[in-house]
Amino acid sequence: NIILMGPPGAGKGTQAAKLVEKYGLKQISTGDLFRKAIKEETKFGVIAKYFISFGYLVPDDFTIQMIQEYLEENINTEEFKNGFILDGFPRTIIQARKLADICSMFNFKIDAVINLDIPEDVLVKRLSGRRTCADCGKSYHIVYNPPKKEGVCDACGGELILRDDDKPETVEQRLRVYHEQTQPLIDYYTKEGILKEVDGTIDLEDVFAEITKI
Ligand code: ADP
Ligand code: AMP
Repeated sequence: NIILMGPPGAGKGTQAAKLVEKYGLKQISTGDLFRKAIKEETKFGVIAKYFISFGYLVPDDFTIQMIQEYLEENINTEEFKNGFILDGFPRTIIQARKLADICSMFNFKIDAVINLDIPEDVLVKRLSGRRTCADCGKSYHIVYNPPKKEGVCDACGGELILRDDDKPETVEQRLRVYHEQTQPLIDYYTKEGILKEVDGTIDLEDVFAEITKI
């Protein structure tokens, strides 16, 4: 079981999709879970929508409750038999501490935390060019990772859209939130002895090769 960490746009979702394909791991993206909840207008969706649209984190208690419910329902299914990738969770120290409790509760262990290291100017270019499938959530980039047919998802044929929170004003806020609340997790997991740094600026196939080595 691994955690993929890094600022918004670092390539977590892209690498998670490749790991799912190669190793049959299960991807757990809290961002995807929130976007699904927003679409379905569930209680988590109604709360999350507001925070996400302004580039804030969804408050810890809701996020933790959502992931805990998700794991309770899914952890014993076939999809989880090869392990999982946490993508976008934890994002605060409180969430990381809670994850440690959840690990004991469900009797699993985090083997490695992979941090995708990448400077801010690269992130801004990536997020402004990112296109996301409105149906399955797969992400593309208009220059670095284009779909076979413009505007159409290779995987499911869904429409590719610019996420609302990938607009420049919101990106700036999300990066601020990352520095304040998520970056401290690098120290946290370094102290736990399970942090692995990977250069996130190189070609996505090379990033993947580095991750598979780990
Ligand atoms: P995250 O899940 O960390 O927010 P994504 O995986 O969605 O980030 O990647 C952000 C954007 O950058 C997407 O448009 C993606 O296609 C592109 N991208 C991801 N990895 C790379 C890479 N190594 N080089 C260039 N572009 C990349
Ligand atoms: P992502 O798809 O990972 O970029 O997440 C999109 C948005 O969902 C973030 O900007 C947050 O508002 C929210 N979100 C996702 N994961 C978390 C989390 N672990 N804690 C709080 N908010 C989250």
